[in-house]
Amino acid sequence: MKNNIEKIFEELKSKGLINEKINLISKKSVMPFKTTITNKILYDPSFVGISPDSIRFILLHEAGHARKVIQIGYLALFISLLLYLIGYLVISKITTFSWYFVVIICLFLFFIVFRMFIPLLKKDEIEADSFAAKKILEGYNNKKPSLIIKQVFKELRKKKFKSNILRTLLMPISYLIEYHPTNKERITNLIKIEKGQATQFPINSDKKQ
Ligand SMILES: [Zn+2]
Repeated sequence: MKNNIEKIFEELKSKGLINEKINLISKKSVMPFKTTITNKILYDPSFVGISPDSIRFILLHEAGHARKVIQIGYLALFISLLLYLIGYLVISKITTFSWYFVVIICLFLFFIVFRMFIPLLKKDEIEADSFAAKKILEGYNNKKPSLIIKQVFKELRKKKFKSNILRTLLMPISYLIEYHPTNKERITNLIKIEKGQATQFPINSDKKQ
């Protein structure tokens, strides 16, 4: 028996709103929905109960990420980790600091480097939202994607804390590396699209679909 998320994923594919090559995987995770480094969409099965409209929007948002050749989030993480390691090796070679002091310095370095990517990551999120909104308009003639995203925020917030203890414990760290635009920025972007004023619409990359 297919669950709600799998059914809606099939529906979006049959409508041609999600690329045929993109796959869906069910896996318990710290993030309820995410695009993997190999461009698969991963969902946490504890979220199957959220509303169909929210599932549609979220899956289309992830498909918006998955259509990119390189996931900027993973690139940012990779570069930050690499600099962490290089920093560790260099600092422990040229100084006599104890190892835990070096780790603290390098963690700072990691966060500083990662945060440098935040403008790019935010732009990527806005583009994925725009992609989802356009597909919702196209496939369902729903002219108010901004209302759906509001519902998504509400439903995810409610569910997130209950479903995964690890996620709740990681909250302080996730604030440090939070890269999503604010909810208000995301809603405003969708209102712009509804009014036909969007400036960050991913028109070119969209043609591949
Ligand atoms: Zn995203």
